[in-house]
Amino acid sequence: MNIRIGNGYDIHRLVAGRRLILGGVEIPHELGLLGHSDADVLTHAIMDAMLGALSLGDIGHYFPPTDEKWAGADSLVLLSQVNKLVLDKGWRVGNIDSVVVAERPKLKPHITKMRDRIASILELEPDQIGIKATTNEKLGPEGREEGIAAYAVALLVAAE
Ligand code: MG
Repeated sequence: MNIRIGNGYDIHRLVAGRRLILGGVEIPHELGLLGHSDADVLTHAIMDAMLGALSLGDIGHYFPPTDEKWAGADSLVLLSQVNKLVLDKGWRVGNIDSVVVAERPKLKPHITKMRDRIASILELEPDQIGIKATTNEKLGPEGREEGIAAYAVALLVAAE
């Protein structure tokens, strides 16, 4: 089998006094995501999808929230490390698709920049990174603006 698929999910709580970082891009908003690292929920879902494709566990295993080393960590640095792990195992990312669930702010103006940033970390073309945004129609924790969630799938291809 020379292809593998993985999926990832994450959610972080929205709070005052934190920056909102999604896909490595800081987005102006009065609330930000709470977490041990920069709480970049999109990048976290993408990493879990990549790890899941190779049954390598989840990001909590590699970057435990109990480890001070990862306090305030830039999730793109963690993504680069996960990509290195994938490459070392003899695989590369074919493509990624993802969706961010957020009632506010409007994410559409920032998606190109998020896609370019993740593609550059993974050394891929921007068209290999799908990022979509949706509201939750005011339903559930995302709809009540208590948090932002992200879902991702990653297709890995055996490196030749
Ligand atoms: Mg997370």
